[in-house]
Amino acid sequence: MDGNKHTPEGILSMDQNDALSGFRKRFYIPENTIYMDGNSLGLLSVDSEESLLRVVDEWKKLAIGGWTEGKRPWFWFAEEIGAMAGELVGADPGEVIMSGTTTVNIHALVSSFFRPEGKRNKILADELNFPSDLYALKGQLKIKGFDPEKHLLLAESDENGLLDEEKITGMMTDEIALVFLPSVIYHTGQLLDMEYLAAEASKRDIVIGFDCSHSAGAIPHRFNEWGVDFALWCSYKYMNGGPGSTAFLYVNKKHFGKEPLLAGWFGCNKEKQFDMLNEFIPSPDAGRWQISSPAILSSAPVEGALKITLEAGIENIRKKSVKLTTLLYDLIKTEIIPYFQGCRIVTPTEPQRRGGHIAIKHPEAARISEALRARGVVPDLRPPDIIRIAPVALYNNYTEVWKTIRILKDIMEKKEYERFPVVRRAVT
Ligand SMILES: *Cc1c(COP(=O)(O)O)cnc(C)c1O
Repeated sequence: MDGNKHTPEGILSMDQNDALSGFRKRFYIPENTIYMDGNSLGLLSVDSEESLLRVVDEWKKLAIGGWTEGKRPWFWFAEEIGAMAGELVGADPGEVIMSGTTTVNIHALVSSFFRPEGKRNKILADELNFPSDLYALKGQLKIKGFDPEKHLLLAESDENGLLDEEKITGMMTDEIALVFLPSVIYHTGQLLDMEYLAAEASKRDIVIGFDCSHSAGAIPHRFNEWGVDFALWCSYKYMNGGPGSTAFLYVNKKHFGKEPLLAGWFGCNKEKQFDMLNEFIPSPDAGRWQISSPAILSSAPVEGALKITLEAGIENIRKKSVKLTTLLYDLIKTEIIPYFQGCRIVTPTEPQRRGGHIAIKHPEAARISEALRARGVVPDLRPPDIIRIAPVALYNNYTEVWKTIRILKDIMEKKEYERFPVVRRAVT
């Protein structure tokens, strides 16, 4: 790498030449903090605050009228915000809807897309998957009368903790009815080759879905072009929608005719919904997988956050994100690893195999992460031994990455972490 970047002047010039630097001032950065935890909870922007306060005001003044008379009428909120998010993931109109939460969307979609037939009655996932995703898959297998011990196959990671796409496709046998994988592995930060996996699944007539919670808002997706069958993701990580904000789901239009089995009245054709028919007449598109009245207050901030993301452009966001994580990666390699035993990077070296964060493994990860917090750097700990550092393109800068490493090195040199008790935070 360019040795220049290691000097404070080099770093400063990266910030000065950053085309996205103007977006930082639209976010509320906690005071005296270097926030490196946007992969867990993105920050509030003035745009999100505005869209949220607007909806609160509509509730105040319009009451029930807000459903049809709000600036963005609540009745069509999920469809309209879904269309905005569709631009980020390469979807056609009607293929993305804002709805529910990540895990509920897994249940809603897998209940429709896992259609066991004869010996094709297994689900393929991976052992590194987010626990909630695995709980949902196991639950769905049980609902259909299958033993998860035998019918949920988990691709294993290699000695470096990484998944190998070819090994995964090797497991796509004629016993597999559904493949469900994350886009980015939440602890290691490995980005899977979704295009390759979708093509291989399609060759074998296997349905494939992705949980894109750790890539949406950070990485461009081309679901249609890749032939992905379905996907879902949360909006509170790189999408900056706020704690517990409403999630999204994508269904490829070739599946619009499928039946939503976790059916609910907000999945109805909107022209018929208030006819209150006992017969379920579904929406013609992905909207049919909605279940309940949309959580409007948890959806409102997502509108503002999406506005910023679309304004910045997801390709530009990815470009900057790769530069930020590359700088971080290089600094860890040159400034930390050679000096401190037991420390290594578990995120893949190649930028195209990385999501938006870098993960470091160290036996003292928990206490190091406490020491970082005490110095104003907010990282994220995945117990027992992984620290994740996520510099986010929209609001972090190169100087912060540089400072984070300076502080980390200082903590390690002085063994400052030894002063901290081993604590277990309720939320990490
Ligand atoms: C963040 C995340 C979740 C969280 O699920 P919720 O239902 O939103 O609480 C689930 N799966 C993955 C892969 C995630 O990254």
